[in-house]
Amino acid sequence: MKRETRSRKQSSLAHRWIYRHYTKLTRNNEVTCNYCNRKFVIDISRLVNLCKHLVEAHPNKLTEDEKKDMKFYWTWDYFTLKSDSNATCTICKKLINCTSVQNLKEHLRNVHK
Ligand SMILES: [Zn+2]
Ligand SMILES: [Zn+2]
Repeated sequence: MKRETRSRKQSSLAHRWIYRHYTKLTRNNEVTCNYCNRKFVIDISRLVNLCKHLVEAHPNKLTEDEKKDMKFYWTWDYFTLKSDSNATCTICKKLINCTSVQNLKEHLRNVHK
C-alpha cells in the first residue's frame, strides 16, 4: 500500500471536517454533501463554500468543535479582524464585537439579508 504524500498542509483543518460531511466522488475533486447530495468541487480558495453550505443548510449536523473551526472560514469572508474582540464588516465597514460568532451572524442576518 502506498502512503499518501503529506504535501497538502494547507487547509488541513477544513479538510478534517469537510470529509466527515462530504463524500469524495472522483479524482476531479468533486464531493457530494452527505445530507442533501448537492455537488461541490473542492478548491482551496473556495473551501469556504463548503463550510457555508453546512452552516446554512445543516447546522444541526455540526459538532461544537466544528462550529468553532468554521468561525475562521466562513465569517472571514465577510469580516476583517481588527483585534481580538472586534471585526469590521466588509460590506458596510461597521465595527462589530466578535467575541461571539453569534454577533457576526446576526449582523449579516439583520443588516444584509
Ligand atoms: Zn447539504
Ligand atoms: Zn455590515
